[in-house]
Amino acid sequence: MSQINETHDPQLISWVESANQENNDFPIQNLPFAVFKRKDSNESFRAGVAIGDYIVDFAALVSHQVFSGDVARAIELANQENLNDFMSHGKDVWSQVRLALSRALRQGSDLSEKMKTCLVPQSEAVFKLPCVIGDYTDFYASIHHATSVGKLFRPDDPLLPNYKWVPIGYHGRSSSIDVSGQQFKRPKGQIKAPDAAAPVFSACKRMDYEMEVGIYIGSGNDLGESISLDNAEDHVFGMCLLNDWSARDIQAWEYQPLGPFLAKNFASTVSPWIITTEALAPFKTSWHRDEADPQPLAYLESETNRQSGAFDIQLEVLLETETMREKGDSANHLSVTSFKHSYWTVAQMVTHHTVNGCNFRSGDMIGSGTQSGPSHEEAGSLLELSFGGKESIALKNGETRTFLEDGDTVIMRGWCEKEGFKRIGFGEATATILPAS
Ligand code: MN
Repeated sequence: MSQINETHDPQLISWVESANQENNDFPIQNLPFAVFKRKDSNESFRAGVAIGDYIVDFAALVSHQVFSGDVARAIELANQENLNDFMSHGKDVWSQVRLALSRALRQGSDLSEKMKTCLVPQSEAVFKLPCVIGDYTDFYASIHHATSVGKLFRPDDPLLPNYKWVPIGYHGRSSSIDVSGQQFKRPKGQIKAPDAAAPVFSACKRMDYEMEVGIYIGSGNDLGESISLDNAEDHVFGMCLLNDWSARDIQAWEYQPLGPFLAKNFASTVSPWIITTEALAPFKTSWHRDEADPQPLAYLESETNRQSGAFDIQLEVLLETETMREKGDSANHLSVTSFKHSYWTVAQMVTHHTVNGCNFRSGDMIGSGTQSGPSHEEAGSLLELSFGGKESIALKNGETRTFLEDGDTVIMRGWCEKEGFKRIGFGEATATILPAS
């Protein structure tokens, strides 16, 4: 697992001025990865690392020969349209690049003049998915979400008996995951009203978002081998924001007996930047299991997981309606919570996923499941905030919502803050719903 080192020093200052500004998501302590090119150019997509309002362009690092030796070889690995190759090489290689970039971007670095020719303003960039996501699994790791949703679908039996023993998940679909800026048509499907005898075919009327953390696997495991709990985080390259769009009316009719299907696989949105597990090291925190609850089976239990298995990542959702956009009003805050409330940790999800010998490949994505905090205001979906559509939510401009309407843009933000460390941010995952065709 990642330890605190010189790259996390809160005193570090960059020669890139914007990186030192208060509340900039990308100070020198962050250094997240993305894949980008200049807008309206016929350049190839390639890797970059965020610093303030700029991107360190890996293609330029290679052509200007800024680094040499092992670091140059690692940067060449990353200088591709997809980061899978680089991500598969493991944490020592990731760490080497982070340290080299941290030193080169510090105020007073000998490399600053050369590095200045390798910066692209983020405002001039377009992003794509940072890697090929071969497989995608969505967990259900927030007990607060599982309990409130369970109450709506099964009032007498909200939490099924396996929930406190097994990290529950389903295999999702990677083909419809896209990067922030995604626009998609409202899905259509089979919908059955509770009192109707038969379903109808219709556009979704209960369109919802789910605020999740996306976890990118870096180095995988061989088929037949499993990843132990204390090694699990070493396999995680980093994390992003994930919006697991959900058609609640389609879901309610189809989800039994095999789980989510067409209610989930029409679109999912990720933020462009991968915040590395190493950058998140200062924001790891203790993980607790209520004494009244079943304690984890041995393969999901360790002292390290108890001490520092949770990640304190603030997760915020905002809504921008078409009216707000037309009038130039700012987006409406809906909720904020922390990933630290998750019932299962990232390490437990990784270990559980492989305990039967299932193999992860580099670039695979795990969704954390909707992250809702202990209080109602911290809910990570409209299904919960509107009590299953029964109570409408008042927006500050006088509009109301139970579920999402056409033209609505959902904006997700994330950040980590802790006394004694520099705040780091995740950027945004933003996407807009278009009318059904
Ligand atoms: Mn989900």
